[in-house]
Amino acid sequence: MARYAYVNGRYVDHREASVHIEDRGYQLADGVYEVVGVRGGKLIDEGPHIDRLDRSLRELRIGWPVSRNTLGFIIRELMRRNRLHDGLVYMQVTRGVARRDHAFPTTPVKPALVLTTKNTKHIVADTGPGVAVKSQPDIRWGRCDIKTVALLPNVLAKQAARESGAYEAWLVDGKGCVTEGASTNAWIVTGEGELVTRQTDNGILAGITRHTLRSICDSLQLKLVERPFTLAEAKKAKEAFITSATSFVTPVVKIDGDPVGDGKVGDMARRLREEYVRFSETGEAVT
Ligand code: PMP
Repeated sequence: MARYAYVNGRYVDHREASVHIEDRGYQLADGVYEVVGVRGGKLIDEGPHIDRLDRSLRELRIGWPVSRNTLGFIIRELMRRNRLHDGLVYMQVTRGVARRDHAFPTTPVKPALVLTTKNTKHIVADTGPGVAVKSQPDIRWGRCDIKTVALLPNVLAKQAARESGAYEAWLVDGKGCVTEGASTNAWIVTGEGELVTRQTDNGILAGITRHTLRSICDSLQLKLVERPFTLAEAKKAKEAFITSATSFVTPVVKIDGDPVGDGKVGDMARRLREEYVRFSETGEAVT
């Protein structure tokens, strides 16, 4: 079956899909992106993801390449053409094609829009055995709240993690606190059973999965505190887990080679994953 990509107004064969060499995304990482999960043919949290795309674009003063309604249509048409049932939709907007100069183009340039889809296995409620994470210094810039394609520090951190046999990197700031993962938000469960995840500000990406899980925690009357936590605290925590549109809720059972808690998937992570998977099927945080 042919796989399609959407590139600036056209659905093209994925193998042939390309952008101009002077696209500012390619040369300067001057662009933003979103990843929306798809389960059973339905987009998960589409509205909040598109709202975040809108915010990222506004923060960088990049215009919308098409209307919001049109983007919704393009997403669905690409899903239809690629028979996407379970997986994700990737969308990227860059400032467009212009003669190379760090400053914004002075003549109007049309922002460039690219979409692809990826099939993944049907995500199940079962957590599996959990994953290992490796700590890495957070060497990113001061606007991690913007979902830009400038991901080199994240790429290097993830690579270091993978080379050490870990699945994800946990980024640690100058104060010894875990900010987030290279492509996920980071959570711990304290000995008292309290959920802790870092507050959102310019230091992390406000994950959509994080936000939805917060509502789920509220509806389950679980105690959740948004505050910084150190790597040392995480290593002593009862449980830890990561969240993202592609990993849902995934338990962390090892940090830098040391077991978290008893080294097994904890009850809280198991329960929250089940609840989140239910949400992804029904679209409802409360059941
Ligand atoms: N932090 C970073 C740095 C990310 O790249 C991602 C994935 N987009 C997340 C957190 C999780 O965000 P979301 O739940 O919206 O996928």
